[in-house]
Amino acid sequence: MDMLTVEDINVYYGAIHAIKGISLSVAKGGITTLIGSNGAGKSTTLHTISGLLKPKTGKITFEGQDITGKPAHKIVGMGLSQVPEGRHVFANMTVMENLDLGAYLRRDKEEINKDLTDVFTKFPRLLERKDQIAGTLSGGEQQMLAMGRALMSRPRLMLLDEPSMGLAPLLVQEIFNIIKEINDSGTTVLLVEQNARMALSIADKAYVLETGNITLEGTGKELLNSEAVQKAYLGG
Ligand code: ATP
Repeated sequence: MDMLTVEDINVYYGAIHAIKGISLSVAKGGITTLIGSNGAGKSTTLHTISGLLKPKTGKITFEGQDITGKPAHKIVGMGLSQVPEGRHVFANMTVMENLDLGAYLRRDKEEINKDLTDVFTKFPRLLERKDQIAGTLSGGEQQMLAMGRALMSRPRLMLLDEPSMGLAPLLVQEIFNIIKEINDSGTTVLLVEQNARMALSIADKAYVLETGNITLEGTGKELLNSEAVQKAYLGG
């Protein structure tokens, strides 16, 4: 079953036509990835799904409900949460305050505490640093905090915008392992990445985005083996 469908959306920044009629779907329970180079429109696509941008035309459906153009906080409340690119944590707040904010739409205190324990189990480093000011965390720790904060809204669908950006290879592996764990525990994932190899290796379904158009789609494995993808995105 498709949890999310994006149908023929067009997105503009003023006169710039950034997304040119793309359609995609995300199956419930799996990991779907959208790969592409700088400026292809990956972040724009995620922002349009999460309600930060409005498409000029087209339709976005989440769990059967039309969410096109709905405000971002409403969409989070429906169970769809985005982990932004560049680790947009609240730099002047502590780790704990950032995590609390992730749950700000919830009233189920006991369940919130349970999720907090889960986040600290997944990211022990965040527990060690729970009173530290988020802006002083390392890049990798900020990425973990951004993911932890999104988990605190208990999303059924998590959108991840380039979680590997700027991280050392060992840390990239760790972050991808955690994405798999999050998915295994029942959260559907839509992952945007420039690191095509890592993304395709964990994805059930994958799309290639080039200058606002989807040019290829298939299973992660199919795209890993595709000559066009190897040439353009896998360095050989
Ligand atoms: P990257 O991997 O570099 O983040 P991306 O695939 O996420 O790239 P987007 O950030 O979605 O790409 O950008 C798609 C296109 O839209 C680019 O040509 C970009 O210059 C343009 N764009 C993005 N944000 C704006 C903006 N606020 N105003 C004008 N143009 C924008």
